[in-house]
Amino acid sequence: MKSWAQLVADTVRMGGVLVFIKDQAPQDFQQWLEPLSQSFAMKIPFTVRNKSDFVSGRYQTGIHDLIFFFEGQEAVLAGLDAHVQGQRVWIAPGNTSPATVDYLWTTEDVSAWVAFWSSLVPQFDSLIENWNSPEMDHAPCLFLDRDDVVVKNVPYNKDPHQVELIPEVVELIHKAHAEGYWVALVTNQSGIGRGRISWQEYKQVHQRMLKLLANEGAWIDECVWSSYIENESVPEGRLLAGLRKPRVGMFQMVKDKLKIDMKNSIMVGDSATDLMAAYSAGIGSCYLFRSEKLDKERETLEKFRAENSKFSYQAISAAADISFGRL
Ligand SMILES: [Mg+2]
Repeated sequence: MKSWAQLVADTVRMGGVLVFIKDQAPQDFQQWLEPLSQSFAMKIPFTVRNKSDFVSGRYQTGIHDLIFFFEGQEAVLAGLDAHVQGQRVWIAPGNTSPATVDYLWTTEDVSAWVAFWSSLVPQFDSLIENWNSPEMDHAPCLFLDRDDVVVKNVPYNKDPHQVELIPEVVELIHKAHAEGYWVALVTNQSGIGRGRISWQEYKQVHQRMLKLLANEGAWIDECVWSSYIENESVPEGRLLAGLRKPRVGMFQMVKDKLKIDMKNSIMVGDSATDLMAAYSAGIGSCYLFRSEKLDKERETLEKFRAENSKFSYQAISAAADISFGRL
């Protein structure tokens, strides 16, 4: 039997929202919402929307949300597949629910519902604190910057014919996979945000890189890029500032998707910002790969270390100097 208390706590812990829909809601809808607006006002994020908010795109649900439907809202549920994410919960007194909902929450009436939320109040904090991520076989990851790490840097490259791999890094990728690591690419691509490279051009360069790796029998498990750049008016440059290194967004995306053991993971970059982001994301081993700008990058990293005493890194001139296992 489902533990609703645990599901609600997990939802909150993962950043989800409880979503209710006004259209064709029960007459005593306000009473159903009351326990959430009162006891939980500070603890459980919830929102009340119209179906048109989802269909028009004014409101976007996320994968961790719980979307509640009451018996009688069959017509509201219909046609929402393309517009809502998250788990659909059907609230009804009986034991039947439409096929397109994920969970059936059987509750006699609004007083049983209110009683549930009252009983959740005293245990909610401990449910959140004792939260355990699902049992997963977490593996470490070799995170790589792209330009001047995986491929030779050609500023704002839009020509797939100019893509050239760095052979020793291909060897490093082979080694990482042999050691049981995931391999991920996290690359700032402000050229897209500045309007210097089109999305189509980026795609072709990206696919050329992967094809060259494939020719060597090597691959990258996950690739993430950030097109954000400050003060640019191109839409791609405006959005998702949190992804751009030294922010941790791209690392977090890979971590969430591949269930990464961050402490035992490795970052290889040629910029200070690569290593600063990796450290902030909890990666245990940071390597600064040789490049022409090495001295400048080291200077930036020394300043960073002054404010982050636990930060350490190793400057290397060859990929073979990277050891799998923590520094
Ligand atoms: Mg680089």
